[in-house]
Amino acid sequence: MGRSCDVSVVRLCVKDRCEQILRWLKHEYPCGRVVKIGWRKQLGGKKPYDGETTRRGKTLWIMLSRRECSTYKYAIDTVIHEYAHCIQWGMATIETNDKVPHHPPSFWAQYGEIRDRFDHDNGSEESRDF
Ligand SMILES: [Zn+2]
Repeated sequence: MGRSCDVSVVRLCVKDRCEQILRWLKHEYPCGRVVKIGWRKQLGGKKPYDGETTRRGKTLWIMLSRRECSTYKYAIDTVIHEYAHCIQWGMATIETNDKVPHHPPSFWAQYGEIRDRFDHDNGSEESRDF
């Protein structure tokens, strides 16, 4: 029987799945910081966005919009995107008054590496054990 037929695989709610993926990301790509996920009803005003990463003390917070991240696909992609920011935190605009680009090529290289691992190299399945 293929893995997809395994009835023992529990389908977590979006929030729990995001926490699980964050644990997997921390394990596979340690970023040297405490990273937590927070949810808001909505982020941004007239230009709503899916998520953002901010810092409170030494803790990085991945903030997710409940409105924009209501599906697994969007929520998971946003967690991966924001976690790439956590890895690259020193380059984040929020710390440098917008003097450094938020998404330099190195950001997309990091994001692409994780995305590829998650989508095409068993990452999605592996993360279910976290
Ligand atoms: Zn970003």
